[in-house]
Amino acid sequence: MKYQYQLSLSPEEAANQFKLKKAASRYGKIALRDINYVEILKRSIDARQRKVKINLKVDVYVKEDFTEKKILLPDYQDVRNKEEVVIIGAGPAGLFAALRCIELGFKPIILERGKDVKTRRRDLKALNIEHIVDEDSNYCFGEGGAGTYSDGKLYTRSKKRGDVERILKLLVGFGATPEIMIDAHPHIGTNKLPAIIARIRELIIACGGEVLFETRLTDILVLNNEIKEIRTLKGDRIKAKKIILATGHSARDIFELLYRKKIKIEAKAFALGVRVEHPQELIDKIQYKCDSRGEFLPPSPYSLVKQIGGRGMYSFCMCPGGIIAPCATAPGEVVTNGWSPSKRDQPTANSGIVVELKLSDFKNIEKNPLAAMEFQKQIEQKAWLEGGRTQKVPAQRLSDFTQGKVSENLPVTSYKPGITSTDLAKVFPGFIHKTLQTGFKEFNKSMRGFLTNDAVVHAPESRTSSPVRIPRNPYTFEHVQIKGLYPCGEGAGYAGGIISAAIDGERCAEKCIESFKNS
Ligand SMILES: Cc1cc2nc3c(=O)[nH]c(=O)nc-3n(C[C@H](O)[C@H](O)[C@H](O)COP(=O)(O)OP(=O)(O)OC[C@H]3O[C@@H](n4cnc5c(N)ncnc54)[C@H](O)[C@@H]3O)c2cc1C
Repeated sequence: MKYQYQLSLSPEEAANQFKLKKAASRYGKIALRDINYVEILKRSIDARQRKVKINLKVDVYVKEDFTEKKILLPDYQDVRNKEEVVIIGAGPAGLFAALRCIELGFKPIILERGKDVKTRRRDLKALNIEHIVDEDSNYCFGEGGAGTYSDGKLYTRSKKRGDVERILKLLVGFGATPEIMIDAHPHIGTNKLPAIIARIRELIIACGGEVLFETRLTDILVLNNEIKEIRTLKGDRIKAKKIILATGHSARDIFELLYRKKIKIEAKAFALGVRVEHPQELIDKIQYKCDSRGEFLPPSPYSLVKQIGGRGMYSFCMCPGGIIAPCATAPGEVVTNGWSPSKRDQPTANSGIVVELKLSDFKNIEKNPLAAMEFQKQIEQKAWLEGGRTQKVPAQRLSDFTQGKVSENLPVTSYKPGITSTDLAKVFPGFIHKTLQTGFKEFNKSMRGFLTNDAVVHAPESRTSSPVRIPRNPYTFEHVQIKGLYPCGEGAGYAGGIISAAIDGERCAEKCIESFKNS
C-alpha cells in the first residue's frame, strides 16, 4: 500500500530516511517495521517561524516495495534527411527548439555565434583576468546561452506546471540531478550545466541535426515580407524559408539589424539597478534566525519586493553562496550578473536589486523602438568609465550608498575583475539612484541587518530582460509582419529565465512545424 502525506519536519529529520520513516509512522499511526520507504515528492523550506521547518509531500510505502522510477528521454528519431528548420542561437530556447524539432521528425540546423561550451571557458577566463571582452564568446554568448555559467535556478512564474515538469524531466534525462523534480526552488549549478548542454548538443548531432559554432547571423533577406535567405559573418548564404530567432536579450546587433530592415520591433520596459553582495553567513543569520545554519540547511536565499514612489523595486536572480560575474558583451561597457556552483558553497551571497522602468522613462520612445536598449547601453558605458575603463565595476559599500557617501575603502568581493570606489550617483539617472537608496532602507525593515556596510553594491545589473520585443502572432507565433520568422525566447520578449526560454523554444518549434504541414 502507498499513502501520501504532507509532513513538516526539522531539517535533520527531513535529511535522513530512518527519521523520515519514524515521522511517517507517527503521522500515519503505522507500525515503523511496516514502512519500507518514504519517497519525497516535493520539498520546500519554511523559514517564517523561529524554528525552520522543511515541508514535504511524501509517498509512504507500507508493506510494498519501492522501485526508483528512471526518467527516460523521449524517443528521438533520425532526422538527417528530413525537412530542415534553421534555429539562430544555442541558448535554452534554441536548444529546446532543436530537441522538439527532432522529436517531431524535423532536422534542426543551429547557428551559434559563440563557441562550444568547453572552449567558451577560455574566453571567460580572459574576461575575468585580462578584461578582454570577446563579442562572440562571453557570459551571454556561446553554447548554452546566457544560462550556462549561471546559478541554473530552474523556477519560473509560468503557471503551466505540465510544461515546466516536461523541461525538468528532459534536464534530468540529460544528466541533471533528479532532486530538481522535488525542490520548490531547484537549481543545477554552474559546474554541472556545461556537461548537460554538451549532452544535448551530442544528441542533436547524433540524430542528424547540425550545430554550427562561430557562425554569427548578420543579415536576413526578405522578399515580399517573406524570409528567403540568411547570411553569416563568415560569408555563408543559407536558403531558409523559416527561421526560429532565439538570439537572447543581449544580441543588440540583431535588434539593430531588424530595425534597419524595417522589420517591426517594439521597445520593451525592463528593470535595472545594482548587484549587492553580502557575507552568506549574515544572510543565513537573518533568514534562519540562528547563529549558524548547521549542516542540514542550504545557504539561504532571500526575495525582497517593495513599491517605492510608484515603482517596483525587487531582488532579481539571487545567488546564495555565489559569485558576481562580468557579463558585458562588447568592449566599453560593464554589466554584472551572478552564478553559483551546485553546492552554493562560496562565502558570499549576491543578488540583483533592480528598479522597474517604464516606457515613459526612455527618450524618444514614440519614434525609436531601440530607445530602451540605448538607455541600458548608456548606463553600462557610464559604469565602464567610472569603473576605470576596464572590466572593473564601480562600487560602494551598501550603507555608504544609501547615505550618498563615497566608500573610503572596499572589502574583497567575489567579482574577479575588481571594483573601484565611486559615487554611484554618477552612473544612474537620479530617479533610479534615489529609488535604490530609499528601497534599501525599506528592505532593511523586512530583513533587519540587510542594510550594512559589510555589503557592497556593484553597478550595474542591467540585463534583466530584453529591452526590445519582436512581436509575433499569439496563435501562430509567426512574426506579425514577416512570414517564416519565429521570434523566440528571452530576446524576443517571450521568456525570462532558463525554464521559460526552453518552454518557448519548444512551442516555437511546434508552431513552426505546424506551418510546414499547413503549407
Ligand atoms: C550570469 C547569468 C546568470 C543567470 N542565472 C540564471 C538562473 O539562475 N536561472 C535562470 O532561469 N536564468 C538565469 N539567467 C538568465 C538566463 O540565462 C536567460 O533567461 C536564458 O538563457 C534565455 O534563454 P534564450 O535561449 O532565450 O537566450 P540566450 O540564453 O541569451 O541565448 C541566445 C543565444 O543566441 C546566440 N546569438 C546571439 N546573437 C547571435 C547571432 N547573431 N548569430 C548566432 N547566434 C547568436 C548567443 O550566443 C546565445 O548563445 C542568467 C543569465 C546570466 C547572464
